[in-house]
Amino acid sequence: MSLADDMREAELEANQKQLCKTGAWVESLNDRDRAAIEDFLTAGKPVSHLHGLAVRNGCGAAETRFRAHFRRRCSCFKLEHAA
Ligand SMILES: [Zn+2]
Repeated sequence: MSLADDMREAELEANQKQLCKTGAWVESLNDRDRAAIEDFLTAGKPVSHLHGLAVRNGCGAAETRFRAHFRRRCSCFKLEHAA
């Protein structure tokens, strides 16, 4: 993943009201896996660690975009920012 790829992805996400790669990945998980992610983050564990686990489990998002998703700064939450 290069900077150009990352920027293009961010731009695509900004122009499309749809789930980002991370959001789509989370959607593809079962309830048990989603609950595990929530528990992981609620416990204050590092998102970088979660990203490593996510990549091993099929998530194709770059870490910067992965972090953006969990900060709600991605296309998944676009409607919340529109005002
Ligand atoms: Zn997202």
